[in-house]
Amino acid sequence: MSFNKKTIEDIQVKGKRVLVRCDFNVPMKDGKITDENRLNGALPTIKYLMEKGAKVILCSHLGKAKGPDPSLTLAPVAMRLSELLNKEVVFAADDTVVGDNARKAVSVAKDGDVILLENTRFRKEEGKNEDSFSQDLASIADVYVNDAFGSAHRAHCSTVGVTKFVDTAVCGYLIQKELKFLGEAVQNPTRPFCAILGGAKVVDKIAVIENLLDKVDTLIIGGGMAYTFFKAQGYEIGKSLLDEERLDYAKEMMEKAKTKGVKLLLPVDNRIAPEYADVEAKITEDQNVPEGYMGLDIGPKSEKLFAYAVREAKTVIWNGPMGVAEFKNFAAGTVAVAKAMADSGATTIIGGGDSAAAVNNLGFGDKMTHISTGGGASLEFLEGKELPGIAALNNK
Ligand code: AMP
Repeated sequence: MSFNKKTIEDIQVKGKRVLVRCDFNVPMKDGKITDENRLNGALPTIKYLMEKGAKVILCSHLGKAKGPDPSLTLAPVAMRLSELLNKEVVFAADDTVVGDNARKAVSVAKDGDVILLENTRFRKEEGKNEDSFSQDLASIADVYVNDAFGSAHRAHCSTVGVTKFVDTAVCGYLIQKELKFLGEAVQNPTRPFCAILGGAKVVDKIAVIENLLDKVDTLIIGGGMAYTFFKAQGYEIGKSLLDEERLDYAKEMMEKAKTKGVKLLLPVDNRIAPEYADVEAKITEDQNVPEGYMGLDIGPKSEKLFAYAVREAKTVIWNGPMGVAEFKNFAAGTVAVAKAMADSGATTIIGGGDSAAAVNNLGFGDKMTHISTGGGASLEFLEGKELPGIAALNNK
């Protein structure tokens, strides 16, 4: 995707009501935010707009609300943002999102003030991109800014619909940053370029594998996905995850990699268990998983092989764990990849989701060049798809 969208620096915002779609879909436990990556990611845009004297109106979805749901209120986000910005963020607690509280807060706001609206998914129209909610959002704004990279792959009222009802729709710093790193890596990588894909399901990564095979020098496939590739090569996989319907696809991709001169690396050994449980791991000699066992992580030889490929690369992108990293006995492969990337001098990009959580939990966050705030969005970007929430913004 070539980037030709207007940004917040291309427009005048002083005294204007600026509606900013953020991605505050943060993990919470007992009303406490447990990972602030997305809040921190939103701060540069919010601070810029405050400094330029905009009346800043923030909105976001949280969780999978299908209407008003007190357990999914954005109130805790308003509190934490107030601390991070060192300024009160007025929370407009309307179940209708744009209700009396929001309208009143906007009407009395001074330049530089910040308001947060309630969870956009409290409105049923949000996910269906219906005009009624888009119009409500637009009715309290002069300008719209999308900075929610993590939601940019969804055509909802607050990401796409609202742009029909405002004259000015531009992107914020986070979206610019995400597109810069992901875009440059994919379109113009410093080579060798290595992509690492893991996770459970082949089907989720089909389009990514196809698109990346045209771009990378090395493609590493680990995690549950690898067993379908093993089976396609004739190895025994025991009770490991298998996607029977994609066996031909796996063969095709291995052929395609050969034709394109891409080095396709699969694991060469496994950590296995008799059942899907966090029990002590047995290590296999080679790719084969004996009957009665399932592969739950890559083995130590594979860790070395993958770490070597990472060391050789100048650009590395990673999406998806190498095993069941939630189990302490099967986290080693994922940790090894994270560590190899953290130790590497390459441009290192983490494509959101589970891999981002793993890297942050291990304390390697600041060792990576970029950790995407969007799991689904970064995958769709890596598939080469246009993201509707970005496509809808004004061109330069
Ligand atoms: P995804 O959402 O496709 O990125 O997959 C992430 C999930 O894949 C995590 O919850 C892992 O536990 C799971 N996973 C990774 N490797 C395996 C494996 N070998 N067997 C079963 N599940 C796996």
